[in-house]
Order: sequence, then structure tokens, then C-alpha cells
Amino acid sequence: MTLAENPIDTPPRAPSPVYQFGTLAVHAGSPHDPVTGAVIEPISLSTTFAQTSVGQPVGLYEYSRSSNPNRDNFEKAVAALEHGRYALAFSSGSATTAVILQSLAVGSHVVSISDVYGGTHRYFTKVALTHDVDVTFTPTLEVDIASLIRPETKLIWIETPSNPTLSLVDIRKVATIAHEKGILVVVDNTFLSPYVQNPLDHGADIVMHSVTKYINGHSDVVMGACAYNSPELHERLSFLQNAIGAVPSAFDCWLAHRGLKTLHLRATQASNNATAIAHALEASDKVLLVNYPGLDSHKQRHIAQKQHRNGMGGGMLSFRIRGGQEAAYKFCQETKIFTLAESLGGVESLVEVPGSMTHAGIPKVQREEAGVFDDLVRVSCGIEDGEDLLRDVMQALEKAAGPAKAVNGNGSA
Ligand SMILES: *Cc1c(COP(=O)(O)O)cnc(C)c1O
Repeated sequence: MTLAENPIDTPPRAPSPVYQFGTLAVHAGSPHDPVTGAVIEPISLSTTFAQTSVGQPVGLYEYSRSSNPNRDNFEKAVAALEHGRYALAFSSGSATTAVILQSLAVGSHVVSISDVYGGTHRYFTKVALTHDVDVTFTPTLEVDIASLIRPETKLIWIETPSNPTLSLVDIRKVATIAHEKGILVVVDNTFLSPYVQNPLDHGADIVMHSVTKYINGHSDVVMGACAYNSPELHERLSFLQNAIGAVPSAFDCWLAHRGLKTLHLRATQASNNATAIAHALEASDKVLLVNYPGLDSHKQRHIAQKQHRNGMGGGMLSFRIRGGQEAAYKFCQETKIFTLAESLGGVESLVEVPGSMTHAGIPKVQREEAGVFDDLVRVSCGIEDGEDLLRDVMQALEKAAGPAKAVNGNGSA
């Protein structure tokens, strides 16, 4: 029996006691083709599968929205890496969020951290209401949770680290209180990837990802996924996956699966790069504040030590530049390796200004309450050489940062 056969593909229960992350990334959900011996499974583009008699398909598959070989393989790999018994793939991270919210009964209540991903905030405030699901936001979930829970509360939504201020939530602490009341906890783990954090191990019931980011990692696929251990959840969510039909193509599943095989290498390099840049920014007088969970100065560094692999900080950071919005804009134009663009988690480094880009849809007052000021720059570190990235950040900072007195000045907007 080879490594790619049963023990990894169908773990009797998670987590796997046998293989470590890199081995699972390469082999989980990657069987050799039983007919040709192909080491990499072909892309199965067929939308339909032959049946020998009515209701008797040749193999496991009937119709590609319901399931197909490439999606199955990818889902097995995600389940293995997130220490879940099950995983489901969707056509985007947003579709994953929508399906999880759709699984709630009409009239349900959700408690969410305040600085969630912009699209998640939009879904919670503009779409969930249409099926009478009400969401309460809080910037201090661990403190408020008990007082925010109502009889109809069904879900707690956590993003840790949060976007774009990189604040952390103690998953175990929240899950303990939620579970006393029979409430499920969802963690959006997009920012760290399963290599740095496995929320199910800390008590979360569902972990979700925008696969578009670290899991695919090459900025060429839009996809989402979630993983969990409960058979009841699997029944409900897999029914909705098929019924709603927000499924990824076989080709995208194959690409995302290929990307996932190097996640451990990419996440390590991105995190090392971000650590070096965060230290340099923190030491600069052109920077007001650095948000990075890998720094000792991060106010929840103790949570990172407990929840992240080896206390890693991940590849994302944000910082407030001296000189207000104008300086933030200029910084993003002056970098030569970092591309000014939304998104994150790819092999290439990116920068953006959340207040004007990813988080522009959130009213300014609410944004600033969550720490998203106009001078905040978000950085996604890629896997280029760290010294080159560091030099690029420092030269752009030199050109862009304004004098101290211009902080939050009104000269730009
Ligand atoms: C990008 C992102 C999403 C949404 O995923 P899409 O694939 O763009 O739909 C959700 N959460 C976080 C943290 C993200 O970064």
C-alpha cells in the first residue's frame, strides 16, 4: 500500500496521528489513477457519468454539480489539512459564507466580530436580513459574548486574525461559552491558512476559507471551502452545496489542489518575510503603528503563541503610515515589487489601502472604530526573497511618509 491510499484519504477520525502537514499536503486526496497509474489525477471535465442500468452509475459519480473526482480529491485534502472529518468546496469564499448562513433557520441570530472581511460584512448586513437572520457585531467578542447571546443565537462568527487589523480571538474561550448554549462557532481561517492555524483543534465547529488566497496561493482561482467534524453538519451543508449549486469547476479544483501541495513551504516563507518587514516597520519613525501577530508588541501575542503553529505571525500585516491617506496612497504607488492590488495569500507580494479599497463599503465611523483608519496600509507578503522585499518597503516608506504633524490631516480625502 502506498502513502496515497486509504490511511490518509479516509481517516477514521481527525486529526491524523500518523503523517505531518507537508506529507498530508502532498498525498491526501491524491490517489494514483487506478487504470493508467497516472501519479497526478486527470482533470475530469465530464458533467455527466454513464449508468449501466437505471440508478446504477459505473462509479461513484452521476452529475458533476453533485460531485466529481477533482472536487472530491480537493475536499479530502482540505479535510486532512484542517483536521476535519469532512470538507466541502464552493465557487468562492463568499459562496461558502452564504451557504453556512443559509443553513440557519429563519429568525436566527448571529454574533460576529466587527472587522470581518468586507464581503462578509456586506452579506451579514445586506443579504442575511432577507431571510430574517440578524447579525450583531462586536469588537470585543471574548468580553461581550455572554451578554450578546440571545435565545435565538445560533452562530458565532470569528475571523482570527481579523482583516485588516490583525487582531486575534481566543477560539477556545469563545467556543467554551458558545457550546454551553448549543451555539456553533465558525472561524474564517483565510488569513493564516491551515498550515499556521487549525481552528477545529481549538474548539471551532466549522472552519472556512477563501481558497482564492493561501490555499490556492497563485492568484489564479476563485474558490472557497469549509471543514468540520459533525455528520449532522455534513448532511445539512452538503445538501445545500448541491441544492444551491455554488460549486467550483473541476479545472479550478485541480488547480487549487496543485497549489495546496506547497502550502507549507509558501506559508513558511511568507511568514518569515512578514516577520522581517514588521520588525523594520516597527523600528521606523515614519510608522505610527504596526499590526502583526508575530511581534511581541502585538496586544494578543499570547493568543498567537497558543493558537498558531510555533507562534508564527503569518504572511499578512498592516501599518499606519505617517502623513495620512495621501502618504498611504503614495506608498502603494512607490513599491516596485509589491503590486497595488486587492486580495492576498499569493506567491507575489501585494499592498493596498483598506479604507479606500477592500473596506470602502463600511461606513467611516464604523471603520475607524475597528481601527481601519485612512492611513492604514495592508501588506500581503509573497514568497520572494525577504531582503528584496524589505528594501522595497523601506525605499517606498522613505518617499511616501509625511512629517509627523500631517497625521490624520484633512489635506487629502
Ligand atoms: C477573500 C476573503 C473572503 C471571500 O472570499 P472570495 O473567494 O473572494 O469570495 C472571505 N474571508 C476572507 C478573510 C477573505 O480574505
